[in-house]
Amino acid sequence: MSRILIVEDEEAIAELEKDYLELNDFEVIIENSGDTGLATALAENFDLIILDLMLPGIDGFEICKRIREDKNVPILMVSAKKDDIDKIRGLGLGADDYLTKPFSPSELVARVKAHMARYNRLVGSLAKENDIVEIRGIRIDKTARRVFVDGVEKTFTTKEFDLLTFLAENPNHVYTKEEIFREIWDMDSIGDIATVTVHIKKIREKIETDTSKPQYIETIWGVGYRFKL
Ligand code: CA
Repeated sequence: MSRILIVEDEEAIAELEKDYLELNDFEVIIENSGDTGLATALAENFDLIILDLMLPGIDGFEICKRIREDKNVPILMVSAKKDDIDKIRGLGLGADDYLTKPFSPSELVARVKAHMARYNRLVGSLAKENDIVEIRGIRIDKTARRVFVDGVEKTFTTKEFDLLTFLAENPNHVYTKEEIFREIWDMDSIGDIATVTVHIKKIREKIETDTSKPQYIETIWGVGYRFKL
């Protein structure tokens, strides 16, 4: 269930907003002052924050600014004065939308839904952009440069990661140590094909259950290595 925080000092308005949002299956938490509103917004995770501008304690401008230093959660600002909308825009506080009081509860619900859908699409599309290579029990997240073996994360050095990824992306292809060295190391880097052997050994220790019987990176005697599909 999506969680919404309402920061609003007029309790009747806050309760009305809450009722409508709950009818639409949102979970709602209310804070009636600027200080508690800011504290809750920073301490907990919400899918959207409805933020009144004029509040006792810290005002909505300051709260919005402080939340944005820390979180991307959509913020819908609410004000009784039309002039405030221009001020919010002018300050570039990072609010996602503005509503002027009085507004109808159904308009509020519609805006909330629209922002949440937009935000989820954005977050979803970012997640999808992660480039994943997956072969049997090995999962390589190229974007985050993380490797999981049977669901357990293993730590790799930069070159180990590059070498593993290169072989896994070209499975069943036999590469000589010279080819691998040229591919992974810079032309002028110090080292030789023995470096490749050392790195393969290190990688195997992290991905293989039994390094004497490798299931992933196979040694092709007299030629080189290949990643078994
Ligand atoms: Ca107020």
